[in-house]
Amino acid sequence: MTDHTSRLPGFAQASREERIGILAERLGGNAEALQLFDNLGPIEGGLVDRLIENAIGVMPVPLGLATNMIVDGEEMLVPMATEESSVIAAVCNSAKRCRDTGGFFTSYSGSLTIAQVQLCGLSDPRNARAQILGRTDEIRAICDEVDPQLTSLGGGLREVDVRLVEARSGTMVIVHLVVDTLDAMGANAVNSMAERVAPVLAGWTGARPLLRILSNLADRRLTRARAVWPADQIGGPEVVEAMLLGAEFAEADPYRATTHNKGIMNGISAVVLATGNDTRAIESGAHAYAAQGGQYGPLTHWEKTAGGDLAGTIELPLSLGIVGGATRVHPVAQLCLKILGADSAEKLARITAAVGLAQNFGALRALATDGIQKGHMALHAQNVAIAAGAEGDEIEAVAAGLRAHGRVTEAEARKLLDDLRKG
Ligand code: NAD
Repeated sequence: MTDHTSRLPGFAQASREERIGILAERLGGNAEALQLFDNLGPIEGGLVDRLIENAIGVMPVPLGLATNMIVDGEEMLVPMATEESSVIAAVCNSAKRCRDTGGFFTSYSGSLTIAQVQLCGLSDPRNARAQILGRTDEIRAICDEVDPQLTSLGGGLREVDVRLVEARSGTMVIVHLVVDTLDAMGANAVNSMAERVAPVLAGWTGARPLLRILSNLADRRLTRARAVWPADQIGGPEVVEAMLLGAEFAEADPYRATTHNKGIMNGISAVVLATGNDTRAIESGAHAYAAQGGQYGPLTHWEKTAGGDLAGTIELPLSLGIVGGATRVHPVAQLCLKILGADSAEKLARITAAVGLAQNFGALRALATDGIQKGHMALHAQNVAIAAGAEGDEIEAVAAGLRAHGRVTEAEARKLLDDLRKG
């Protein structure tokens, strides 16, 4: 515990410079260390304050380009924002190995977003359900009026579903508004609809309306990708068999499936972040979808084709937008969408799913052969060198030493650095 309070009245209303001043005082007058926050890069000029509250600076994350991708016949360069080394290299490598079979082929279920309205305190939930379903047209009219822009573009309410959910306090009537949000992720759009329609539903049924918000389990907005890797591109039939066994492990064991899916999300979250989309929405949706069968399982599946090659598929909910949220206001997100040529949310989702599959192929192949550390640590060696205190040219010299010794640890890096400095 420090003797400082975390109560900072006026902090939110203060300018960013004032906030940094307050923070500098906290750090014992060490304003120099806070110079790191001087440079806001592409989001200077007040944008940082419009994006979030209490802004003090930015946390830059490297942005790289994945090469070699072919998605639905189109050559792609995919911007990925990630702090983890080897993520982009793995996608490039995996994508290269399936170019002979045409790369990635995708499909998209449509851009339906679900909002939930919770209705409580009903003694006759089935009666309420029937009442609500009988007034779908009225619900559609109310919802479509909320977002005329969306409606004029061809979006709007498509379906009403009513679920009876057994909870500890009794049966809850959960109304799903299924809305086509087109090129928007749609959270704000459908949340507004849910808030508008909830009191009307309560009036019809006598229920107490409570929560009104979208569901991130976006299972009406699924994207699929598939690709075939020729056996001779991945090390022969033995590697195919080893990768299939590795994939089977993920199907049978949630401990493995979690890590399997983490690898997939290494790629997916990097594209989501680069394009200014909501990483948490995508991650929660993906993991919930992975548990839909009752046991947490892998988001990808691997099979051997009749010709002995390796076929991979991925299916997951991807609520991505090219309008709305930060996508339109963040200049880097805009640039990334341009690099991708993503002129629709659908196209962005298709590319993102393909990256997830490529990422999983890379991890599975590495794990089933050399192990993940060989490639990972080779790239990670420079980070370890920096952590050990290496600067300038010392960084690559120490990293090369670490790679040569095969022991990529900070202690080893310090030893190499000492030796280097002693000459
Ligand atoms: P938004 O409200 O900023 O923009 C969407 C709007 O853009 C639409 O409602 C429509 O009026 C307009 N629009 C213009 N052109 C369009 C087109 N071609 N297709 C569709 N709409 C078009 O954003 P949003 O997508 O409704 O919400 C996304 C934001 O909500 C994200 O920042 C997300 O982080 C945030 N959010 C997420 C959650 C959650 O995931 N649980 C909850 C609340 C908010």
